[in-house]
Amino acid sequence: MLSRALRHASRQCVAIQHLYTAASVQQQNFAAQHSGAAAFCPSPLTVLSEDEEMMRETVAKFASEQIAPIVNKMDAEGCIDEKIFKGLFENGFMGVETETEYGGCGSTFFVANLVVEELAKVDPAVSVTCDIQNTLINTLFRKLGTEEQKQKYLPKLSTEYTGSFCLSETESGSDAFSLKTTAVKDGSNYVINGSKMWISSAPQSGVFLVMANANPSASYKGITCFIVDAQTPGLVVGKKEDKLGLRASSTCAVHFDNVVVPEENILGTFGHGYKYAIEMLNEGRIGIGAQMVGLAQGCLDATVPYILQRKQFGKSLFEFQAMQHAVAYLAMEIEAARLLVYNAARLKEGGQPFIKQAAMCKLYSSEVATRVTSKCIELMGGVGFTKDYPVEKFYRDCKIGTIYEGPVGPSDPVEPSGPVGPSDPVEPSGPVGTSTPVPP
Ligand SMILES: Cc1cc2nc3c(=O)[nH]c(=O)nc-3n(C[C@H](O)[C@H](O)[C@H](O)COP(=O)(O)OP(=O)(O)OC[C@H]3O[C@@H](n4cnc5c(N)ncnc54)[C@H](O)[C@@H]3O)c2cc1C
Repeated sequence: MLSRALRHASRQCVAIQHLYTAASVQQQNFAAQHSGAAAFCPSPLTVLSEDEEMMRETVAKFASEQIAPIVNKMDAEGCIDEKIFKGLFENGFMGVETETEYGGCGSTFFVANLVVEELAKVDPAVSVTCDIQNTLINTLFRKLGTEEQKQKYLPKLSTEYTGSFCLSETESGSDAFSLKTTAVKDGSNYVINGSKMWISSAPQSGVFLVMANANPSASYKGITCFIVDAQTPGLVVGKKEDKLGLRASSTCAVHFDNVVVPEENILGTFGHGYKYAIEMLNEGRIGIGAQMVGLAQGCLDATVPYILQRKQFGKSLFEFQAMQHAVAYLAMEIEAARLLVYNAARLKEGGQPFIKQAAMCKLYSSEVATRVTSKCIELMGGVGFTKDYPVEKFYRDCKIGTIYEGPVGPSDPVEPSGPVGPSDPVEPSGPVGTSTPVPP
């Protein structure tokens, strides 16, 4: 009896919600007509505007013509080729959202994610370099910088050098705000001491955004974001990590030994560094989602031609229906992940709440990328396990997805509009379960 009443109430809720949504579209159309604007017309997530499509095509061309021929070389040598770096800047991929007056493209957050996705189809290591630059570094400067700071750094970040985001330390990873790096006031300067770990692009970076605690007695509310130029005495880029994947992207320790910066080098407000880190990583997770979707798509695209031409039992492997089921299933999973990423990006761009969707898209895309790359190796058989084909690299590169830029941990201070808390229905981004239903 009770459950029938609940079902009835829930059906009523859905019906009311439907009416409300319909009315809201009508209301928006009405308002649009009366203000002379175009009628509000929700469109499919994957339909790209002319500008979006143009940028996507430009990146795809650059990736296939310039990056693809040297992916293995860069992976083996553990660094991104100079020519590729130059190309990223020359094509505007490193300053996608940066306003044109500061040397950027003046484009959108959604386009920045398209760039990340397209690059990841060919090389996820190049893609992450571009992702961090756009979704973390440029965004911090654009949102928080004074006019002087913007004029000094944004043009260079769009055309000349990378920036590095320095939050993690040896003892503070998921528990990021227990960081030990300090900034002590000395007249009109601050003196920074401490060591950061896992800092992407550090050897190439011209500027470092460093989270340091300038008032430890206030706990995490003392964390402040400092701009530190690469040449500042006392800043030393340390050991480069020998990683499983993303080998061409340099990940290094960075040490700060009595690094002196003027007070004007505070980015944003004193003591608000923790807020900025949370906010940036919320957006950044969408970028990681885009990277993982691109990676999974690139891997499947590299697999299908092989199984089309590979013959066993007198016919192409692809002619066996079990193979077709497997490929269809992987394609479906990638599409679902892409929809989550595009929706999160469009929500963020539309000024709607997006934090939950960003966390979901990052986790789901990372897990899809893990399943797709693993399955693609199996579909190709022995050659999939060799470096003669790109799938083994995609398999190595995907593992980072569930690790960096999250997960959101229980120690994150929960702000009113804040981050995903421990009680939110987001799966822990731990290891992929073995029960995941990928067909044989
Ligand atoms: C390739 C690469 C690039 C990176 N780039 C940057 C960068 O540019 N800048 C930067 O600042 N950082 C960077 N990082 C650091 C990255 O953000 C951290 O690795 C990440 O935050 C996880 O921290 P950790 O490695 O210390 O893992 P830990 O925090 O030690 O976590 C280990 C495991 O424990 C789990 N765990 C942690 N806390 C809990 C809990 N309360 N309950 C349950 N499980 C928990 C985690 O989910 C994880 O599975 C990079 C890392 C890598 C590998």
